[in-house]
Amino acid sequence: MKKVIMYTTQTCPYCKSAKEFLKEKNISYTEKNASTDPQAQREMAGLNLRGVPSFLIGDEVVIGLDKDKILKLVDHRLVECPNCNAKLRLPNNKGKIKATCPKCGMGFEWKP
Ligand SMILES: [Zn+2]
Repeated sequence: MKKVIMYTTQTCPYCKSAKEFLKEKNISYTEKNASTDPQAQREMAGLNLRGVPSFLIGDEVVIGLDKDKILKLVDHRLVECPNCNAKLRLPNNKGKIKATCPKCGMGFEWKP
């Protein structure tokens, strides 16, 4: 499954909307704040990203909160274990799958 990185700054209102969107769609991501993290600034420069929010999904870049593109590129969803409510990252491009919760060991079926 592809890793999702979101580049943000502290003052950007669209970054807040973007976080809400990813949460609502159960997408797991790592936030890198370019206001406080020089490494994030370097990564953004290397990817030629000049604005926020921007996203690195696998090795593809999305500039701005392009919801359709994000949903097309992301190949996982966060799913709650029906037993212990732990969040699992499951592929959403394989149809119905059998998952085992790493926390409580419960097996369950999940379909995107
Ligand atoms: Zn569980």
